[in-house]
Amino acid sequence: MTTQAPGAEPAERPSDTVDVCIVGLGPTGRGLASRCLASGLTVAAVDPHPDRLWVPTYSCWVDELPAWLPESVIASRIEAPTVWTLSEHRIERPYAVMSKTELWKALPIAGGRVEAQKATSVGAHRVELADGTAITAEAVFDCRGLPPVGTRPAASAHGIFIEAERVAEYVPPGEALLLDWRNENDAAADAPPSFLYSVPIGDGTVIFEETTLAIPGGLTQRELRRRVIARLRSHGIELDGSEHSESCHYPLDQPPPGWRGRKNEAIPFGSRGGMMHPCTGYSVADSLALVDTVVNALVSGDDPVGRLWTPRARAVYWMRERGLAGMGRLTTEQTVAMFDSFFRASPRGQRALLSAHDDATALGAVLFNTVAHTWPFRWRFDLMGWTNRNRWKA
Ligand SMILES: Cc1cc2nc3c(=O)[nH]c(=O)nc-3n(C[C@H](O)[C@H](O)[C@H](O)COP(=O)(O)OP(=O)(O)OC[C@H]3O[C@@H](n4cnc5c(N)ncnc54)[C@H](O)[C@@H]3O)c2cc1C
Repeated sequence: MTTQAPGAEPAERPSDTVDVCIVGLGPTGRGLASRCLASGLTVAAVDPHPDRLWVPTYSCWVDELPAWLPESVIASRIEAPTVWTLSEHRIERPYAVMSKTELWKALPIAGGRVEAQKATSVGAHRVELADGTAITAEAVFDCRGLPPVGTRPAASAHGIFIEAERVAEYVPPGEALLLDWRNENDAAADAPPSFLYSVPIGDGTVIFEETTLAIPGGLTQRELRRRVIARLRSHGIELDGSEHSESCHYPLDQPPPGWRGRKNEAIPFGSRGGMMHPCTGYSVADSLALVDTVVNALVSGDDPVGRLWTPRARAVYWMRERGLAGMGRLTTEQTVAMFDSFFRASPRGQRALLSAHDDATALGAVLFNTVAHTWPFRWRFDLMGWTNRNRWKA
């Protein structure tokens, strides 16, 4: 599996060394472990709760899912979700909520060595475990997810699950509100912006999730819940106390591994390794789609980081980070104007921002056009950071 310089002595490989050690069995780590095993690599995986089903509800664009995943992973499919900015936009691109149980079943890891404990140290070839033992591997992938938010630009959301028939007039069957920026959430004019995300999740309920993206440190659950309840009320819907809720709060700016200096480090992958999209807060479909890039690199003795993070992919990440910074200093009115401009872009332009891993040309064009068509003119200075650069910084 490893490459060797011409003429060099073959390095001795201890008999208990595995090809790949994966630390963290979230959807990324499990996906990577499963595909490595399927391609014949020996795998060890470490997670304190390897048999616990993931908590969040994962969604994505249907075309982002890798072809090797079965259709059954889609719990709910929306052919053309709606975006509300200054007006209504229908996005002609199928969107899906994933079934966590089906995704789990589609990523079998039987045949791998699984350690149900924490890793205490994660190095390039050695992982130390809480019980004092260690695993050695040709390659170690750090899939431990994201660090705490602190004051970093965040995705914060509070979601309430309501039976579909109670909300059928607000979100009719087969429909979804991907971003609803209508002025219905009772947010103060001088408070950070948030939008509604509402999709049928495939179990007879619809999630109503008030979400804020890019604000340093995010918003509190209390404020987000207050806002989503205000939206529901404005559509005549009252909670009866039976509804479950979910919350999220994580950083959006976790960078990819650097060009240099990785020799003694494990390879960060998934949300920990630059796959958390800085502008959407999504990482699962992209990480799963890139798993085979890693596996192919390992099998052919190539550098997975070089294959994942081509100059184009790095340029895309860099531009999305600029987008994140821009979004994180706008008022609600400005944000709505900016999204109104963005959702007039071509399907390729929209895709370049929302999901494509390395379409740098289209992304550059769509970002330029989004800024150029945001009105009034002076708001572009905020977007660029020339004015009100630190508007929401604590
Ligand atoms: C409410 C909510 C809704 C979301 N909606 C979406 C969505 O619609 N689409 C989307 O793409 N993303 C969504 N996200 C984000 C999503 O959760 C992350 O993108 C995704 O979980 C990242 O997957 P991952 O495998 O990289 O990391 P994680 O899922 O965070 O998995 C990390 C794993 O590492 C393990 N671990 C941590 N420390 C150690 C250690 N020391 N040793 C061993 N194991 C360790 C953990 O136990 C965990 O199993 C949502 C998040 C929330 C909270």
